[in-house]
Amino acid sequence: MGNDSISKALITAEDIQVKVRQIGDQISRDYAGMHPVLVGVLNGALIFMADLMREIDLPLEAYMMAASSYDGYESTGTVEIIKPLEASITGRHVILVEDIVDTGITLDSLLESLQSEGPASLEICALLDKKSRRQVEVPIKYVGFEIPDEFVVGYGLDYNQQYRNLPYVASMNAAAVNAAG
Ligand code: 5GP
Repeated sequence: MGNDSISKALITAEDIQVKVRQIGDQISRDYAGMHPVLVGVLNGALIFMADLMREIDLPLEAYMMAASSYDGYESTGTVEIIKPLEASITGRHVILVEDIVDTGITLDSLLESLQSEGPASLEICALLDKKSRRQVEVPIKYVGFEIPDEFVVGYGLDYNQQYRNLPYVASMNAAAVNAAG
């Protein structure tokens, strides 16, 4: 499958950079005087997390955890924590960093798991929000971009492990993917 399956940028690298800086500034203001814990969700949030943490002007800790996600296009509906958080967040101010919120099922499950450890606060930061697809309501405090119901790749997001390295976010052309088998 070549890049024919990819639309031109839905969100450009420049727009992402500006937005990530804005979110970083906002977090720096909201958490002034605190020492927050950022928890990124692998693999999709890898690039967003790396960029965002460098835009936050505070002492912070950063960890990654991993949950099962999509296989191809469709969510399996079941969420499994593949790599648990290797740190105590009890009494800490935690920001969960996600690439994209779609149905909300993954996030809901991760929130429940983190909440059970008794953080002082727990907020969500997501680069992309497919609001129209939501099945479970999740309170997202920091949102980069609301996007339409299209399957997107790039800036950490994959299609069958491809395209994570695109510096921008693009829609997949479903017809081209199906034709490729
Ligand atoms: P949810 O549980 O909210 O339905 O799905 C969240 C996860 O599904 C995301 O972390 C991401 O891994 C995956 N996902 C949802 N929509 C997309 C999309 O448009 N593109 C890609 N690459 N992954 C998506």
